[in-house]
Amino acid sequence: MNWLPVSAFLLIAILYLRHRLNAREQLRQIDQMIQTIGEGGRPSSFILHGEKNLQRIGIGLEKLADQRDRLESQISREGFNLQAILASMMEGVMVVDVGRVIRLVNDSFLALFNLKTSPVGRGALHTLRDASIEAVLRKALTTGEAQFREIALTAPKRHLALSAAPVRDSAGAILGVAATFHDITRIKQLEEVRRDFVANVSHELRTPLSIFQGYVELLRENPELPREEIGRTLQVLSKHSTRLNALVEDLLSIARLESRQDNLTLAPWDAVTFLSAVEEDWRLKFQAQEVRFRLEIAPDAPSICVDHFKLEQVFNNLLENALKYTPPGGAVTIAAARARATGGDPGKDLEIRVSDTGTGIAPADLPHIFQRFYRADKARSRALGGTGLGLSIVKHIVQIHGGSVRAESEIGSGSTFIIRLPGA
Ligand code: ADP
Repeated sequence: MNWLPVSAFLLIAILYLRHRLNAREQLRQIDQMIQTIGEGGRPSSFILHGEKNLQRIGIGLEKLADQRDRLESQISREGFNLQAILASMMEGVMVVDVGRVIRLVNDSFLALFNLKTSPVGRGALHTLRDASIEAVLRKALTTGEAQFREIALTAPKRHLALSAAPVRDSAGAILGVAATFHDITRIKQLEEVRRDFVANVSHELRTPLSIFQGYVELLRENPELPREEIGRTLQVLSKHSTRLNALVEDLLSIARLESRQDNLTLAPWDAVTFLSAVEEDWRLKFQAQEVRFRLEIAPDAPSICVDHFKLEQVFNNLLENALKYTPPGGAVTIAAARARATGGDPGKDLEIRVSDTGTGIAPADLPHIFQRFYRADKARSRALGGTGLGLSIVKHIVQIHGGSVRAESEIGSGSTFIIRLPGA
């Protein structure tokens, strides 16, 4: 028997089988690699032994996995950035689609509209129940142009500045609207305060000015007026010019206090020296009105730093009121002592109490007396030359020193103004 062809056949058969087995193993490896990449994982190795084509497949799969990793990290980075930006925005952000269904909101939006759960997937009108917001969204969608509008919410009570801009795809088709809501409640309140202030000032100026005009006219048209009549007229004019002067002085004080350039000139303050000087300034006025005036300075009154000129204005305003509202026979006291220690405060502060035995202030008026132009008894305040600004100036000065002021009062028994200033 010739063994040569037989052994050659066997050799070929063995090589063929080995080759088939190798190829099957490599196919299994490739299959496993693709499966791992498909599931988001990364094979431990991309090396495929054997012919060049197999090695190329390994290299190709490695590149594919690298690219997938890069894309994933880019997506997660952008996602983080978008999330972080939206979360850190003070403005409320809402994105709606063309059907005005909410697609995205941030935390500020939820807070502005007091929403407890995510409104994503719900209609904007159904969620916000505000026809004016709905109208702005509609207009942005139909015109394709950005819209701006101020919105007044009732519950919660807020003023919002809404800007709504269309969102477009790369071909320019409108996909929806991105709306931002800026809370302008505080600005609106300040505007209101300013409007009221201007209206009040105009009102305060109108009365004395029209009286002036009337009397000047009278004098001009009646040059032969008897002397006593002229004297009386000049007295009225003088009284109103004093009032005008007081008003202008108080308005200037407020303007100075509110201007940032008016810094405090702080210096060590000694209660005895300072209050004795105040007493000296006011002694004659109190005597003339038969009101007793007392100073009570406790030995433990802490020394503090204040702007002397401004604190003088505080006492002048409080004593002027005390004198205005205390009938003859009454008493006014200024008492200074260390403030009693409370919770977090060890008792370093100085407390000054200015009390009188005068008319007192009604409970309904008490919470308002520090407001500008507030007068408990309008006719009496005006008759006594009050501007309605004295206590608001007191409060402002005490506050810029880091202190506080409050009042206690009872009708018929008198009033006490309690000032607390931080200790050094
Ligand atoms: P006014 O110029 O009218 O005194 P203020 O701001 O100083 O304005 O005070 C506001 C209001 O508070 C006064 O109109 C008055 O009704 C009340 N008031 C202030 N101080 C006293 C006081 N010592 N006794 C009674 N009422 C007072």
